[in-house]
Amino acid sequence: MERQIHAYACRRCGALHYPFRMVCRECGENGPHEFDPVPLPKEGTLLTFTFVHNLPAEYEVARLGLGVVELSNGLRMLGQLDIADPKLGMKVVGEVEVVRREAYARRYGMVFRAA
Ligand SMILES: [Zn+2]
Repeated sequence: MERQIHAYACRRCGALHYPFRMVCRECGENGPHEFDPVPLPKEGTLLTFTFVHNLPAEYEVARLGLGVVELSNGLRMLGQLDIADPKLGMKVVGEVEVVRREAYARRYGMVFRAA
């Protein structure tokens, strides 16, 4: 089964939110139980990025790329980059993968690669 990360659609006005919010940013009228999960698209444009060095041991990498991606529906999200030489404005596509291991726990997040 393909893993998904979800946005949250307001049941009153349809506005999409990611990450989750307690109250709709657009209409401000709904409560925290009035959102429907909607899978985030995985295609987007790389807006900015950085590389992090000297990570905690559980990352098991010497250098980690992180990028802010504007997804095809306009939402923006932070994800890891599996791109050796990223360029601003490049098209990327993400997959939900293990991004961190802590003892026996696996944390999932979006990993973007060049489209
Ligand atoms: Zn709303």
